[in-house]
Amino acid sequence: ALRSVLRTKVHPQIGRLCYSSSSVSTVKLFIDGKFVESKSSEWLDIHNPATNEVISRVPKATQEEMLAAVDSCSRAFHSWSETSILSRQQIFLRYQQLIKDNIKELAKSITLEQGKTLADAEGDVFRGLQVVEHACSITSLMLGETLPSITKDMDTYTYRLPIGVCAGITPFNFPAMIPLWMFPMGMVCGNTYLLKPSERVPTCAMLLAKMLQDAGAPDGTLNVIHGQHAAVNFICDHPAIKAISFVGSNQAGEYIYERGSKNGKRVQSNMGAKNHGVVMPDANKENTLNQLVGAAFGAAGQRCMALSTAILVGEARCWLPELVERAKALRVNAGDQAGADVGPLISPQARDRVCSLIQSGVDEGAQLLLDGRNVKVKGYENGNFVGPTIISNVTPGMKCYKEEIFGPVLIVLEADSLDDAIHLVNNNPYGNGTAIFTTNGAAARKYSHEVDVGQVGVNVPIPVPLPMFSFTGSRGSFRGDTNFYGKQGIQFYTQIKTITSQWKAEDATLKSPAVTMPT
Ligand code: NAD
Repeated sequence: ALRSVLRTKVHPQIGRLCYSSSSVSTVKLFIDGKFVESKSSEWLDIHNPATNEVISRVPKATQEEMLAAVDSCSRAFHSWSETSILSRQQIFLRYQQLIKDNIKELAKSITLEQGKTLADAEGDVFRGLQVVEHACSITSLMLGETLPSITKDMDTYTYRLPIGVCAGITPFNFPAMIPLWMFPMGMVCGNTYLLKPSERVPTCAMLLAKMLQDAGAPDGTLNVIHGQHAAVNFICDHPAIKAISFVGSNQAGEYIYERGSKNGKRVQSNMGAKNHGVVMPDANKENTLNQLVGAAFGAAGQRCMALSTAILVGEARCWLPELVERAKALRVNAGDQAGADVGPLISPQARDRVCSLIQSGVDEGAQLLLDGRNVKVKGYENGNFVGPTIISNVTPGMKCYKEEIFGPVLIVLEADSLDDAIHLVNNNPYGNGTAIFTTNGAAARKYSHEVDVGQVGVNVPIPVPLPMFSFTGSRGSFRGDTNFYGKQGIQFYTQIKTITSQWKAEDATLKSPAVTMPT
């Protein structure tokens, strides 16, 4: 029943494998406060990952459309940056309520285009909503600093000011949360924003744009364009854009960081991951195995913070058979079906890539304890499904260890000691997230201090910080110097003006020019 609701409500034209270009719904651009049909001659099909049916089409915006979008941002910046901070706060207070009111609608659009389960899609929206809620504290977050009486009659104070037009480029795996990491933080600081959502999941971003308009954001403060490389290059090169926020793969992120930085822009680039879960033999077994399975296979492993690699230390290696049993019990199904635990991958190409990485592990001598490659989902035979897969006896030289798999695959390594486990993790190029499972405080402390990874969980499998902190992936998982949201997000989206003022009393007036440095 839910499936038919999705079909009729969000995409009435869904279900056509063969279509004429006029009969499939199209994703609009959002330019200067209007949702407009692109004049592009280049369009991309969007598929439902559970069926591979074409559900709509997204344009590659033309150069003219992209210019119109950035010009709209530039024009709106003059008034928006002068809008009182209380007015901006009010808009985002209304926005968070609208998102809350529409969470189910947003989640449906995510499940339809991205494939994750409805419950997980609600989580996607919810974690983005928390950033919007945090943005509502802007009246405290944007406070400057003051120091009175720096010398006689002289005070110094700073303002945090917006920087201009900012842009965001987002990945497919969190259609709500990641756009919401970006434009609310940027805009509440007084910047205007150009968003280019993932071309594979654009609808949620469009719904979010509509809600922001309904919350009262003036025309031009947010513009949304669609496309791939040309749109990305446009953002990296346009001189009016002062800052770029990127989340996605290393291939794109390193390129965007370099090209954007060369053009004098601020760039923050969150990229790929290989997150290790270290399991100590003293860990609470029941809890740990459940945490591992949830964090490895949830969202079909398509999370940058998925725990895709387990390191079993010492006797914990005996837990493997139970781990396999729990993974086997997960239900693979279309994301809108009741009871689904693991949905499809985003595309047939992603499924083929994941399957070939599984095979590479087998070819290189690893042991396939659970093989999800031939999973069949009744009624969804054309979907991009891979069931939970566990590969053990993996070593660091293997391809399945070196590459980010981004699918429901848990690879398992073994270590004799905590030191050996730390050595393994620190030698992996990525630094996004990690977790240790233990009941020993000293082991937890040692791990947290010695591991060179940006986000560490102690008995917490996916330690994504709430927005009063920042998302702090490091090493190969991040380029830039200020992270997303939290205090660092405010730093990224503002520049500081320092004012030093002197108000002398009449009788302290200078009698002659002062030509030496004041000391
Ligand atoms: P992706 O890099 O393919 O796409 C991200 C964005 O970049 C899209 O908007 C896309 O249009 C654009 N893009 C893609 N290839 C490009 C190229 N060669 N040049 C310029 N632009 C390009 O990423 P994805 O597949 O959508 O997302 C999955 C990846 O994102 C994974 O590697 C995952 O770990 C990573 N990710 C990281 C975080 C994090 O916070 N570290 C969060 C979510 C996802």
